[in-house]
Amino acid sequence: MRKRIIAGNWKMYKTIDEAKNFAQEVKGKLIESEIVEAVICPPAPYLYELAEITKGYSIKIGAQTMHEEIEGAFTGEISPTMLSNLGVQYVIIGHSERRMYFNETDQSVNKKVKAAFESNLTPIVCVGESLEERESNKTVEIVSNQVTKAFLNRTGETIEKAVIAYEPIWAIGTGKTATADDANEVCHAIRNTVEELYGADVANKVRIQYGGSVKPENIEELLTKEHIDGALVGGASLDSNSFLKLIEAAS
Ligand code: PGA
Repeated sequence: MRKRIIAGNWKMYKTIDEAKNFAQEVKGKLIESEIVEAVICPPAPYLYELAEITKGYSIKIGAQTMHEEIEGAFTGEISPTMLSNLGVQYVIIGHSERRMYFNETDQSVNKKVKAAFESNLTPIVCVGESLEERESNKTVEIVSNQVTKAFLNRTGETIEKAVIAYEPIWAIGTGKTATADDANEVCHAIRNTVEELYGADVANKVRIQYGGSVKPENIEELLTKEHIDGALVGGASLDSNSFLKLIEAAS
């Protein structure tokens, strides 16, 4: 059975005090579980402090992006080894906002996935179609292509540890969620793509989240679906009560 994973993507929100309070409030309320794993992805300047606060508790820390090189003359960037040295365990790669505003491409996503694994970080690889692509029935083609390119030249042994987040772009921050059946259908197509490339065993192990306006009110139905193993949550992960409700629903 795949362990569910609920990850909060805080994007560029919260002050340091708000971030610390959240971590303090939430950490004692989560118990180690075989069923669900909780992750928060705060803005980069807060990673170290939050990793320290949550050390030894059942909540893990993820970064929202990273550079693909270990070190170098890349002003302003943060390397995968720097993240893992801080106690960060996950990293979101290829979020649609990064693809849209920061020129992240399937090629750079591929390099970052490789670098993440080499630095002992688990990548949460985001894929998803635009509204236009959905309306022209290209969803499965687009998403399968993104998955294929993200994992190109990696082995199945590596890929089975990855997390894939299916996030239809039109559902992010808009209040519009894909129906649970639609989301499941695309997550199933993603699993089929992984199966074609790496075999059934890897496909059965890889975890696939849905993301896009997930909240306590709609997560339960999403999680009843066979191919949805958790959620990548933006807005509804910012409030500690709401985040705890999401974890509870997945437990
Ligand atoms: P949302 O964001 O839950 O606010 O739609 C999801 C995401 O961007 O990962």
